Amino acid sequence: MQAIFGSLARRQLAQQVSTRYNGGALITLAHAHNDASSNPGAGRVSEDLLSRLKDKDLAQTLGYIGDEWTPASDGSTYPVMDPSTDEEIARVANLKGRDTNAAIAAAHAAFPSWSKRTAKDRGAILRKWYELVLAAQDDICTLMTFESGKPFKESQAEFVGGVASIEWFAEQGRRVEGDILQTVHGDRRQLVIKQPVGVCASITPWNFPFSMVTRKNAPALAAGCTIVHKPAEQTPLTALAMAKLAQRAGVPAGVYNVVSGDAAAIGNAMVQSDLVRKLGFTGSTRVGKMLMAGCADTVKRISMELGGNAPFIVFDDADVQSAAANVVASAFRNAGQTCICANRIFVQEPIAEEFEQAVVDNVRKLKLGGGMDPKTTLGPLIAPNAIERVKGHVDDALAQGGRVLIGGSSPPDLQAPYSKGYFFQPTVIADATPNMKIYREETFGPAMPVFRFKYDEEAVKLANDSEYGLAGYFFTTDLSRAWRVAEQLQYGMIGVNEVGITSEVAPFGGVKHSGLGREHGKYGMDEFLEIKYIQMGLGYSN
Ligand code: NAP
Repeated sequence: MQAIFGSLARRQLAQQVSTRYNGGALITLAHAHNDASSNPGAGRVSEDLLSRLKDKDLAQTLGYIGDEWTPASDGSTYPVMDPSTDEEIARVANLKGRDTNAAIAAAHAAFPSWSKRTAKDRGAILRKWYELVLAAQDDICTLMTFESGKPFKESQAEFVGGVASIEWFAEQGRRVEGDILQTVHGDRRQLVIKQPVGVCASITPWNFPFSMVTRKNAPALAAGCTIVHKPAEQTPLTALAMAKLAQRAGVPAGVYNVVSGDAAAIGNAMVQSDLVRKLGFTGSTRVGKMLMAGCADTVKRISMELGGNAPFIVFDDADVQSAAANVVASAFRNAGQTCICANRIFVQEPIAEEFEQAVVDNVRKLKLGGGMDPKTTLGPLIAPNAIERVKGHVDDALAQGGRVLIGGSSPPDLQAPYSKGYFFQPTVIADATPNMKIYREETFGPAMPVFRFKYDEEAVKLANDSEYGLAGYFFTTDLSRAWRVAEQLQYGMIGVNEVGITSEVAPFGGVKHSGLGREHGKYGMDEFLEIKYIQMGLGYSN
């Protein structure tokens, strides 16, 4: 297969940054563990970030292949930026297809012995990983906040949910069981066993730099698979720290590999390799579809966690104050950059004004700023082009009769060092209608449209009017309405009077263009297991 596509944005960023390097105007970068002057491919971490880490060895900047920390084969590196300041915080090895093939070979070589270990053995190593990660909580949250921009408190919340995935799968590996079938042939016995899929590739996005790593890689390890993981270009540091901790936990050489770098080259190597038997991807529907098409050539198993455009319905019998607090918590979490954020808010007419006022009151309490400032509750967007997308959706809504209740633009008054950050004010738009872009497309930013409706059927119809089908929410105190609407919504996950739906024990995933497969819980484990049917002849005739 030809290259899927190039990562133009990163190339432009890299050019921009190396120009600034040449001009000598960049912040001071520490030569952490690797002397960049003698080894140009070594990578570096900023003094500011490094000084905040208790365990400086967690600041890794190289790929991790077969137990070796490895620069890119062509020696290239790329910049990692702090989105709240637009300053470079690290340079990381920019691995390519050739490096990815080396990682796949290492994972393939390690598979026979790892898959033959008992689930109990693997669970003990996972448990050790869990304990080491738990002990490194502050450092991991600092890395996450620096590279993604999310407020430190949100990093802590992500940590709690993400580390629980490791603990859960450390235990769950021992519960993988087969079946002995009720035979219809007296001279034969039929049974089913479950075996690890093989080498698994995982590709994760920047919006959850930690929990996407644990929910993909922990079940793979528990099942007996080996891994080649590609983190997002914006957030490799958290993923590399996780590999460092896996190495310390005693995960054997080649079982866990990380390739940070050129998305198209790495993705192509993963999809083209016959040695890779499964690809797990979380990211945009656009890239997910390309990877699905690429995996067809080698008939790989795939799990796809793709985009969303979640409806949030408030019925006239709902607790309005609770609905308003919950919708703000969901819509503005991670600055609106989560796949299960409440995106389209439908409120029944009799309570619409009261609800909108309560929403605005909650939004007013949000505080924009840098993630390491403890007062901050809303961070920046991941990149400058994300601001353009949100602004485009807001402007389009206003041009079509929408009314800004609060926000509507980038903040005018942020002080240095945040004045160059990629911020947008939390925005609420009333009088929204289905012809607006914000109704149809995933905004992935802090802008929330409120639509009004009269009848239940109308709300369900509007909610289902999307190509996406990841998460949906509604608030009501009527039990029969709750059952009815939960069954009618075409979404993989439903929150009734609750927005915190993610849990290590519950299946996470979507329908329609939101993806295939499930993560977490016993369903998540099945994604890494092949079913094998064995028939035994007993050697005598009936
Ligand atoms: P993205 O552009 O699709 O990137 C996601 C990952 O795919 C990154 O690691 C990226 O690498 C990689 N990638 C990009 N092009 C690739 C290629 N040609 N081959 C292989 N890998 C490639 O998505 P995003 O914009 O960063 O993330 C936001 C999207 O993710 C949203 O649509 C959101 O809804 C979705 N999401 C879904 C879930 C879920 O569970 N359903 C959870 C979180 C996010 P680079 O970063 O190096 O380009």
